[in-house]
Amino acid sequence: MVNLDKYSSIFIANWKLNGNSSFLKDYYEKLKVNSNNCTIICSSSIYLKSLKGNNENLFCGAQDVSFYKKGAYTGELSASMLKDNNIDFCLVGHSERRQYFAETNNIVNIKTTNLIEENIIPVICIGETLEQKENKLTEEVLSTQIKDSIPNTANHQNVLIAYEPVWAIGTGLTPTLSEINQVHELIKNFDQKYINFKVLYGGSVKSSNSKEINELRYVDGCLIGGASLKVDEFNTIIS
Ligand code: PEP
Repeated sequence: MVNLDKYSSIFIANWKLNGNSSFLKDYYEKLKVNSNNCTIICSSSIYLKSLKGNNENLFCGAQDVSFYKKGAYTGELSASMLKDNNIDFCLVGHSERRQYFAETNNIVNIKTTNLIEENIIPVICIGETLEQKENKLTEEVLSTQIKDSIPNTANHQNVLIAYEPVWAIGTGLTPTLSEINQVHELIKNFDQKYINFKVLYGGSVKSSNSKEINELRYVDGCLIGGASLKVDEFNTIIS
């Protein structure tokens, strides 16, 4: 398992349903990994194997994993298959999976358990919708997501949490810096057992705001969608 304690910050690129072989080749030629940071590229599963270079601080992450371990589940990819292909990280519970693929906290919990068993670090995504935020439900929503999606086997070395307000993903909107810091502090303090968990921020991170977000006391890195598709932009973010 990757030693997370080694890194001052963690940056994850979530390419979603984008990229092809020539995009990948060009991206990897231009990517400049900073050795103080852990950089993780989450491409579509079919490209995962072609990503593994020889930089020890650069890792591959899957964007999803099957709920099932094996069997008659056509089209699925198990945690053990990811491990067999040297994948070190996997996103779980991304808001797009919760929204479009009916991923519940219970499903996230089981996927997380399966990944931990295979020594793959799950990146558990949590976040409130705009309606929930406006109704002052952020704390309640996040605490339920944490309680129900994080299994007892999780600890600060085998799991990452990503706080991604749903309304900030792909919209260009972000919470204020103090809101981000406060929510991250809250997440780490829901229970004493989360105090040392690394919590990444995601939602419209770009080169113009990444530095100030990443410097916040309770922020341990960023999860980046749209801006990670432009390698120069991503290089600035991770530099
Ligand atoms: C994401 O997909 O997790 C994300 C944060 O996207 P974006 O950076 O585009 O808001």
